[in-house]
Amino acid sequence: MEKIGVSACLLGINCKYNGKDNLNLEVLRYIAGKEVVLICPEVMGGLSTPRIPCEIQANGKVLNQNNVDVTEAFNLGKHLSLTKLKENDCNQVILKDGSPSCGFLSIYDGSFTNKLIKGQGVTTKFLKDNHIQVIHLDT
Ligand code: SF4
Repeated sequence: MEKIGVSACLLGINCKYNGKDNLNLEVLRYIAGKEVVLICPEVMGGLSTPRIPCEIQANGKVLNQNNVDVTEAFNLGKHLSLTKLKENDCNQVILKDGSPSCGFLSIYDGSFTNKLIKGQGVTTKFLKDNHIQVIHLDT
């Protein structure tokens, strides 16, 4: 059976920073008949849910809104996400756009003022660098 990795929040898991989910019907339709491998890089990296929102800064570090450097947790999350996908022989993912981990077209600009810019999340970049294909759905 075809395997696909999915940002867990897109399938209704309450792992979003505010304790909610991003359930997405288009994703649900897309995964029908496929085996799903759930990832949530921020939780896998050790961050709590709910958690303080985080944004990637111009220098590549990830800070939360209280100015705490969470880059290490984000990096751990990206490595564990890749490991889980590889262990499951999964080479494609559907990710949640706009997230500092999972964004694939846009991310917030680092100023915590709700401004989206073109860019990709920490995990997205790492997965692509490691030959995991990102499926672009409207997430
Ligand atoms: Fe969803 Fe990714 Fe954020 Fe986890 S890190 S809540 S999977 S967007």
